[in-house]
Amino acid sequence: MLQNVFVPADLGEAAARLAAGPTVALLAGGTLLMPVVNTEATPIRALVSTRKLPIRDIAVEEGRVRLGAGTTLAEVGRDGRLGFLRPTIESIASPPIRNLATVGGNLFAPQPYGDLAVALLALDASVEIAVDGGSRPASVADVLDHGVAAGEIVTAVGFDLPAAGTWFYTKAMRRKLNSASIVTVAARIATDGAVVTEARIALGGAGPRPVRARAAEAALLGKPLAAESVAAAAERAGDDADPFSDAYASAWYRGRVLPVYLRRTILGA
Ligand SMILES: Cc1cc2nc3c(=O)[nH]c(=O)nc-3n(C[C@H](O)[C@H](O)[C@H](O)COP(=O)(O)OP(=O)(O)OC[C@H]3O[C@@H](n4cnc5c(N)ncnc54)[C@H](O)[C@@H]3O)c2cc1C
Repeated sequence: MLQNVFVPADLGEAAARLAAGPTVALLAGGTLLMPVVNTEATPIRALVSTRKLPIRDIAVEEGRVRLGAGTTLAEVGRDGRLGFLRPTIESIASPPIRNLATVGGNLFAPQPYGDLAVALLALDASVEIAVDGGSRPASVADVLDHGVAAGEIVTAVGFDLPAAGTWFYTKAMRRKLNSASIVTVAARIATDGAVVTEARIALGGAGPRPVRARAAEAALLGKPLAAESVAAAAERAGDDADPFSDAYASAWYRGRVLPVYLRRTILGA
């Protein structure tokens, strides 16, 4: 049963509290963690809140974005400098959840959640992690694949603002609002005017974690960003996917719609 909630103002104290072991958990917005605590599904005795930690800010400087891990999704969605992320944020849950849910927490959301994490993977985001009074860098891909060590706290993510016209995002849902993902597609695709010179495509709903659609990316490189080549690349979406069944969709259905949504995301039709 829960006995203590600590609200430290510095990372060192938070880390020291977390070092007490697996019965102490880091609490951010609590949208995922609190149901676990309340149902006593795991024996959590104490929570360490991120609320007062200095990890809740947004900085945009010379085309580089730094989002504090404690920033809420609502705060990201309201920031005019991050307009390209608004469709991603607005595809996540509902306003009350977005007022609590944080950027850091979204990295640990199991699929079919973690839509911002899918976008961050396509953005090739870097992650800052507080460890032993210092900090270590990691790639978002590494954090999504391997998590962080016990007691480590994600403090920020960073990425380059995508140039105009290079960012694409779609989330297929059972309802238009407030629904988990059937499949989510985020992509950053650059061209030199004639052909694709850079393609990073990330998929949600395509496995236990967000994944890169590497075969589709390779199929697009050097090709025009046009209907025929995008359709051919989209057919390769399944190569990197391992879709699952849940209450929202069957694995079969996810596998069928993945190429369709990848094509629509990029072509807009
Ligand atoms: C009704 C509902 C609908 C939802 N719909 C969606 C949806 O459509 N799309 C979507 O993406 N998500 C959805 N979610 C999932 C969730 O709201 C988000 O993923 C949210 O971003 C989680 O953040 P949080 O701050 O609430 O995390 P918490 O619940 O506080 O924490 C979740 C986990 O992450 C760990 N954690 C949190 N912050 C850090 C940090 N800084 N460093 C290290 N570990 C950390 C916690 O210890 C915990 O294990 C939904 C949730 C609910 C309840």
